[in-house]
Amino acid sequence: MIHVSGVGLLGSFMLHELQHRKVAFTWDDCESRFTAHRASTGAIIPCEDRDLELYAAGYRKWRDDAVKRSYLQRHLEPVETIYVMKAPPQRVTRKWTATTYGVNKIWRETLPGWQFDVDSFVVRARQLFQANRREVPPEGVRVVRSRGVMEGKDTPVTVWGWRVPVTITPKPNCQVWSRNGQRPVIHFNDPDRTFERYYFHPRAGHPEVWWAGSEAVLQVRPMSAKDRAKIGFGRYLKTVERRFGDQLELKQLGPLEEGWRAKPKLVHKQRYTEGFCREVDPGVFVAMPLYKSGVQCGPLYAEVILDKVLR
Ligand SMILES: Cc1cc2nc3c(=O)[nH]c(=O)nc-3n(C[C@H](O)[C@H](O)[C@H](O)COP(=O)(O)OP(=O)(O)OC[C@H]3O[C@@H](n4cnc5c(N)ncnc54)[C@H](O)[C@@H]3O)c2cc1C
Repeated sequence: MIHVSGVGLLGSFMLHELQHRKVAFTWDDCESRFTAHRASTGAIIPCEDRDLELYAAGYRKWRDDAVKRSYLQRHLEPVETIYVMKAPPQRVTRKWTATTYGVNKIWRETLPGWQFDVDSFVVRARQLFQANRREVPPEGVRVVRSRGVMEGKDTPVTVWGWRVPVTITPKPNCQVWSRNGQRPVIHFNDPDRTFERYYFHPRAGHPEVWWAGSEAVLQVRPMSAKDRAKIGFGRYLKTVERRFGDQLELKQLGPLEEGWRAKPKLVHKQRYTEGFCREVDPGVFVAMPLYKSGVQCGPLYAEVILDKVLR
């Protein structure tokens, strides 16, 4: 028997994985205000870059295995990934096709990518396994904490961001759009603040809905910053108008949502098997927060962590 404490995105992947392995489990969650999954964009970005080993391993896991699992499949949508930038985003030497677009280029990804509807996945997992929910872990069971926060001696640093549901309609002769019939994921920069990466991504399974986002702002302690998010979204809208005003129309559909991800010391360059799960007391394991790649790497982490806990 395993008890999972913290059922956001990683916890939900783990509950399904435990069921898949026919291991009995219970779980709890404190319904924290400061979670990542409630603002997650849900992107699984094609990645083969050797310098980004973790992301590449997470991507391969989805492509070769996870997309075939029915409990994940129902929340997935295949997409075409497009970057409107000066250079392609990954350094790996592989073929990119590009067309000129003003001072930038449109880079079209040739590998498959997906969007994952994080919201419906987490809500459904919690409903599905509601009977296993407990206030506290049963006596004597192994516990895995997947609370999306740093625990122990590491200094907690949180990265705050936002998302806004929008509709996006391509105008006639739109160049910045997918060519394979799937909805596009589009990444672009603010020309005045090139460090700021903006995007819009389809919300999987919701044909009219897209996520607009975002920013990455360090906070020592997580706190709401709605006014800052409104300014950020205003800047986003101006950038979309400037860059794609003749290409597409974007309309806000619903309220802005904030998200917080704990930034672990371990960075994506390290091997994915190192340190993702520590035994802090006998039978008590802590899963490292997934930071900015919880969707990309979630199915992989869930397996690696449970292999260690069940050993
Ligand atoms: C704006 C934004 C966009 C993102 N976009 C992407 C993306 O496109 N692709 C990608 O791969 N990743 C993305 N991410 C990252 C991804 O969403 C996170 O990595 C992922 O949600 C982390 O999962 P988690 O389960 O570790 O944490 P969370 O999803 O935050 O869940 C933690 C859970 O633990 C619970 N909890 C906390 N403390 C306790 C406690 N003391 N006791 C019990 N329960 C507790 C909380 O209530 C919560 O339910 C994004 C994140 C943000 C913020």
